Amino acid sequence: KSRNGHEPEFIQAVQEVADTVIPYIAEKEIYNGKNILLRMVEPERLVSFRVAWVDDEGEIHVNRGYRIQMNSAIGPYKGGLRFHPTVNASILKFLAFEQVFKNSLTTLPMGGGKGGSDFDPKGKSDDEVMRFCHAFMLELNRHIGPNTDVPAGDIGVGAREIGYLFGMYKKIRNEFTGVLTGKGLSWGGSKIRPEATGYGTVYFAENMLKTRNENFEGKTVVISGSGNVAQYAAEKVIQLGGKVVTLSDSSGYIYDADGIDTNKLEYVMDLKNNRRGRISEYVKKYPNAEYHDGKTPWDVKCEIALPCATQNELNEEDAKQLLDNGCICVAEGANMPCTADAVHAFHDAKILFAPGKASNAGGVATSGLEMSQNSLRISWTREEVDERLKGIMSDIHDSCIEYGMEENGYCNYVKGANIAGFVKVADAMLAQGVI
Ligand code: NDP
Repeated sequence: KSRNGHEPEFIQAVQEVADTVIPYIAEKEIYNGKNILLRMVEPERLVSFRVAWVDDEGEIHVNRGYRIQMNSAIGPYKGGLRFHPTVNASILKFLAFEQVFKNSLTTLPMGGGKGGSDFDPKGKSDDEVMRFCHAFMLELNRHIGPNTDVPAGDIGVGAREIGYLFGMYKKIRNEFTGVLTGKGLSWGGSKIRPEATGYGTVYFAENMLKTRNENFEGKTVVISGSGNVAQYAAEKVIQLGGKVVTLSDSSGYIYDADGIDTNKLEYVMDLKNNRRGRISEYVKKYPNAEYHDGKTPWDVKCEIALPCATQNELNEEDAKQLLDNGCICVAEGANMPCTADAVHAFHDAKILFAPGKASNAGGVATSGLEMSQNSLRISWTREEVDERLKGIMSDIHDSCIEYGMEENGYCNYVKGANIAGFVKVADAMLAQGVI
């Protein structure tokens, strides 16, 4: 804490892991006296750089770019890039730290990293976004590579941004490699990658529900966010017979009591991905729905909640409201969307709760599959990738059960995910010595 006390999100993420992993370490002689966790919380490398770019009016702007290379014990650094005005070292360090455990859980050989910038793509023209991405990659290119560090998308970085970033990397390095994931299908991307985080979250929730002889059929589902993760989580819930009644963005949420069906979701995808509009526009198109400005959707009655927007978007009060309304399952699509107090409330009530590092790992797992396809120079079918994704989510679920099952028969998925993720990385670090 003395070294990172000014970084609240990072401390929050580390605290949650420490609470479950420290008692485990204490019981295992091989980890004793090795200061493994202390070594894990210090990034192997943290790069911060100037990104200067010119807007459409000719004005010069300066943003701050970052890449945090957290841990490479089990593979090249891997993790997304976030472009959002709130980005700072604390947020990226929390995300990079979580990524180390998440990537370990996927069973694929990937270390952990994260990066991004305080640049805000909202309201910028395509040309401005392109100039920013090119300027960002002018510096980032020297720190990454297909065997070193393989970034991907995150908030504010989707297919458009990955395209511009990849184009500049290729130009500078004169090589066509799998240096980024989330690429377009015609130039090295994997089928199912856009869907993977949202689908994977729902597959994970399906596995959890199965332990209580439940499923999505006929369940009311509240989803926050309306970006990549939220859109495909909604799509999969609808396919599985659930009724999605909310979506949101940073301005507010929409509630559609009739359910957001496939056609309505298609409208949202066009609104958000092509027209880059606001979720409030939904009620103009579907007047039966309600728009709640400046609010999050957690007071809406549901059986299943999938927070898919951003960190700390669901607090203790929201958790209590969900519990009062009869919610039985919460699976995090976003990274750390539930505050520590909210997680405690879910645990106390003994409902099914999955932390993002387990339930949203399908995205990075499919990125790992994209890296494999790039190395082999082949492309798997949609069905093949989807089957692998399902298999990986089921394996992660099994790992959580193995390490998280308590004597009273309640599975603490937070504990399970933290310990399962820790063991593989810690063992590799021990084998590689003090470096
Ligand atoms: P997108 O940029 O596609 O969408 C983000 C969504 O969250 C938007 O609806 C956005 O609204 C909303 N949002 C962003 N910031 C805030 C905020 N401060 N308060 C309320 N709402 C907010 O990002 P993704 O869908 O890719 O990412 C969502 C979450 O999932 C993040 O936590 C990310 O780290 C995590 N994640 C993503 C993965 C991926 O593969 N994409 C993989 C694993 C985790 P608005 O349009 O108003 O900004």
